[in-house]
Amino acid sequence: MNDKPLNFLEEIISEDISNDKHAGRILTRFPPEPNGYLHIGHAKSICLNFGLAQTFNGKTNLRFDDTNPITEKTEYVESIKADIRWLGFVWEAEYYASDYFEQLHDFAVKLITKGLAYVDDLSAEEIARLKGTPTEAGLPSPFRNRPIAENLELFAAMRNGIYADGEKTLRAKIDMASPNMHLRDPIMYRIKHAHHHRTGNKWCIYPMYDFAHGQSDAIEKITHSICTLEFEVHRPLYNWFIEQLEIFPSRQIEFARGNINYTITSKRKLLQLVTEGHVAGWDDPRMPTISGMRRRGYTPASIRDFCDRIGIARRENMIDVGLLEFCVREDLNKNAQRRMVVVNPIKLIIDNYPDDTTEMLTAENNTEDPNAGSRLMPFSKNLWIEADDFTENPPKKYFRLAPGLSVRLKSAYIITCTGCDKDENGNVIAVHANYHPNSKSGQDTSGISVKGVMHFVSAAQALPCTINLYERLFQVENPASEAADFLSYLNPDSLKVITNAFAEPVLADAQPLQTFQFLRLGYFCADTLSKPNQLIFNRTVTLKDTWAKEVKKSN
Ligand code: ATP
Ligand code: MG
Repeated sequence: MNDKPLNFLEEIISEDISNDKHAGRILTRFPPEPNGYLHIGHAKSICLNFGLAQTFNGKTNLRFDDTNPITEKTEYVESIKADIRWLGFVWEAEYYASDYFEQLHDFAVKLITKGLAYVDDLSAEEIARLKGTPTEAGLPSPFRNRPIAENLELFAAMRNGIYADGEKTLRAKIDMASPNMHLRDPIMYRIKHAHHHRTGNKWCIYPMYDFAHGQSDAIEKITHSICTLEFEVHRPLYNWFIEQLEIFPSRQIEFARGNINYTITSKRKLLQLVTEGHVAGWDDPRMPTISGMRRRGYTPASIRDFCDRIGIARRENMIDVGLLEFCVREDLNKNAQRRMVVVNPIKLIIDNYPDDTTEMLTAENNTEDPNAGSRLMPFSKNLWIEADDFTENPPKKYFRLAPGLSVRLKSAYIITCTGCDKDENGNVIAVHANYHPNSKSGQDTSGISVKGVMHFVSAAQALPCTINLYERLFQVENPASEAADFLSYLNPDSLKVITNAFAEPVLADAQPLQTFQFLRLGYFCADTLSKPNQLIFNRTVTLKDTWAKEVKKSN
């Protein structure tokens, strides 16, 4: 363990350990429902559950809470497993709530036998209507006092497919006047003639989440069941089931969801973005899904760092998406190799450089990392530079190119601008300069001092590439809780595709998802579809960093 003070979850667990609860054994779980791809909120839960186990020498199970056959798919199961592995975590065992259907059914029978559950003929709407309000007691169903034998028979008939969807439910018999609405005879089982992604057509009754989750924890003997705050009011119900069924008492502890501004973290809404085509898929680099962030160039370390920095809160809060960007910049600054790419190209002609010569310059891969080595980069008479690195009428303190001004071309020479060519409409089509042969990087004896350093790509060897420039997907801080539909806040300019960019030749070897810093432009990664003859790079984040100061202040 490091020397940070314990957060409240760690405090609870270390207290349980010092009280010798479960003989000091710690088993947590991450329990996703396979009804979508994981998002950054889930990453928090993953880091938390696996992290707590690591801290206390325990283990973590992966359990799919697959009790709702209609929305669940094997595709989601596979993506969830890939994402957790990619984040760097290894689960102890892989389980499915559906593995426990038989056992959960037996638990239900046990409650019926104890007179603690009954089959109700009321419809879901009628049940809801009779439930009362938080200040007003509910009314008992006319079927509440069915004899045990009849309940057993009806429940068996439900299982055997005698009834249609919604015709009957199984309810716990607790307290219709409880101030906690979840204890007013909650539904335990509903009828659904639906194909399940694992159990096929074996079942036509499915347990409600509230009758499956706590029991699944108990079956696996999970010691600490960490969940988000909305389940706090369900805890008395979970405890009631545990007591009546006399099963393993997992300890549920709640923490607050961290909401991230300009971001949606609801699988249902993310699914809507995908199915309605607002984004290109679950792994669209604008998505806050783990797979989207991966394709955007986020690294596992940067996501873990973010989850660590936001910490654990007891109250819901809003986290600045800038912190997430800060975390990936920190990581990529240390670990991403530097390359040169020009996104808005204009020709630069070095008039005093020989026509037929190509020099191979040595360029450092990453000065932040002494082990990153170097690469060779061609230099020649005809180069590409950024069009906005030249102006005919420079303002004061302009450290780029303008007639008479000098700059260093990164890893190459100091050049002095001599002018430009224009087309008939007065648009600049090429910039001219002379180079200083004795100013080569690393062996500069020119004595010329310049303020500006510019990137470039040698034109003859330049690789054409496509660059995807991503911006925030939403235009408002909290798209999910504004008055209008969240879709109305989509940013129409969240993706700008540049098809005429030029990359230095070593980028032909860029592997899908490999990350880079493109000098002066930002951090980028090769897209999953990028190929040597069809390079595509996604901008992860710009270089500009407004968060560094904030974080320094708080450190
Ligand atoms: P969503 O609302 O996006 O569908 P969910 O909670 O229904 O999320 P699950 O698959 O049930 O999705 O979540 C698996 C685990 O991840 C749960 O323990 C849940 O509490 C946790 N989790 C989900 N979203 C967040 C979040 N924003 N912050 C922290 N934990 C989260
Ligand atoms: Mg859930």
